[in-house]
Amino acid sequence: MVEVQLRRRNIRDERVLQAMQEIPREEFVPMDYRVMAYRDDPIHIGYGQTISQPYMTALMAQSLELKGTETVLEVGAGSGYAAAVLGALARRVISVEIVAALAQQARENLRKTERGANIEVVAGDGSLGYAESAPYGAISVAAAAPEIPASLLEQLNDPGRLVIPVGERDDQELRVVLKEGGRIDYRVATLCRFVPLRGGEGWR
Ligand code: SAH
Repeated sequence: MVEVQLRRRNIRDERVLQAMQEIPREEFVPMDYRVMAYRDDPIHIGYGQTISQPYMTALMAQSLELKGTETVLEVGAGSGYAAAVLGALARRVISVEIVAALAQQARENLRKTERGANIEVVAGDGSLGYAESAPYGAISVAAAAPEIPASLLEQLNDPGRLVIPVGERDDQELRVVLKEGGRIDYRVATLCRFVPLRGGEGWR
């Protein structure tokens, strides 16, 4: 997975590659799908949700340019796999998940892989962010929104980075947002297709 799906597609951050080499992805997918754990695709995890394609998890983590000192907010814990990757790269991760049963599953997956020590999984609507631990040096959103939720931009530290798929169900771009000196800029990393962000200020 690391050589063929990540390195060859320009994932160059050695810390990201190392984390994804070490974290047992099969422990984060349902038993029936374990043989597919290292495939180049998203995998169903129940409740209509998926664990993202490994390349997307890597690209998002790399885009955040984590140094190891940050508190990171993740929106959409799902299986807990991306939270585990972020937890290996940052000081602390808060991961918010809107499906309570998935939040519990993510906690369980992080516990059994012993990856959860610096990760807190919160059941709730992450489109509103999580003000209690703001500001965040980095924010990773694992579900697509028509626009970047204002609460997330507010809770992003200056300087800080945020990565989010923006667009409609079938037409999305992965945006990397940089907040610095009071300015907000973004670039498009790639086209992508994530599950929709729910809850929030008028989304479903
Ligand atoms: N990072 C996950 C990928 C999960 S897919 C992993 O590595 O497995 C996106 C997740 O976002 C789903 O679990 C979905 O339930 C969740 N989600 C959607 N809208 C949300 C919201 N407003 N707040 C928190 N989680 C949300």
